[in-house]
Amino acid sequence: MRVTETIAETRALLDKERATGRTVGFVPTMGYLHEGHASLLRRAREEADVVAASIFVNPLQFGANEDLSAYPRDLDRDLALCEREGVDVVFHPAVDEMYPSPNPFTITVGLIGEKLCGASRPGHFDGVATVVSKLWHIVGPCRSYFGRKDYQQLVILQRLARAFDVPVEVIGCPIVREPDGLALSSRNVYLDDEHRRAALVLKAALDEAAGLAAAGERDGGRLAQAMAARISSEPLARLDYAACVDPGSLDDLGTIERGAVLAVAAWLGKARLIDNMMIDDQTVTPA
Ligand code: AMP
Repeated sequence: MRVTETIAETRALLDKERATGRTVGFVPTMGYLHEGHASLLRRAREEADVVAASIFVNPLQFGANEDLSAYPRDLDRDLALCEREGVDVVFHPAVDEMYPSPNPFTITVGLIGEKLCGASRPGHFDGVATVVSKLWHIVGPCRSYFGRKDYQQLVILQRLARAFDVPVEVIGCPIVREPDGLALSSRNVYLDDEHRRAALVLKAALDEAAGLAAAGERDGGRLAQAMAARISSEPLARLDYAACVDPGSLDDLGTIERGAVLAVAAWLGKARLIDNMMIDDQTVTPA
């Protein structure tokens, strides 16, 4: 496994691999890796000849009052996990390497970046789109793997690749959960025992709404209300949003006709956690 810190070395290495006809699978991360990240690395390992990962805590996607300096880091453990998962190249750049100052250009995502998480994290998706665009330019043509845990991010990056004709295939992968249902997140480390227990309310709210949908409820607004009520019933949780949205546009759905995404976000103490669940055609019982 090679660990690279410069753009030039990373690009040269992967260009050389592609020149011999090998395909590249790429998994961008902010480190503090867990089984969710490992599942993406494994999928890349199965589908590509060469697996590249990046570990970079991207300052551009953190708001002024967010947890950039506190964001958990453990490079040695991350590298051990990458080695174990058969990663070939880990790109671990310094902030200066990615953003030599001044950095005049950023991508503006627009309306789709202002919905759901974007409402409480202004500029977040501009930062995500900017860093992933840079990473795709550095890594070159590849299949790039993302978790559906960050569903809005996945939709935005699929649009980004299409909008700029980036030679990258964006692949969404299933959410990995703890045995009790909590979605894995690097930010779960912020949870004390009480908040860890209370955090289960996110998945419980999604399950409840999915159950209502399976029982015939097609009113997206009512599903959103049910999730909001469930999360608000937990004293240690502070609701950010609960929504039932169209899987492509992320617009709130009045009536569910085909698929929908149930999406929730809440503060549990210092941790802002998100989760979501797809409702497909089969789950929605025909009238
Ligand atoms: P992060 O390091 O949080 O930026 O996440 C890097 C990638 O891992 C993103 O594509 C995330 O969606 C994905 N990811 C994070 N948590 C999970 C999870 N529990 N299940 C699946 N993918 C995940």
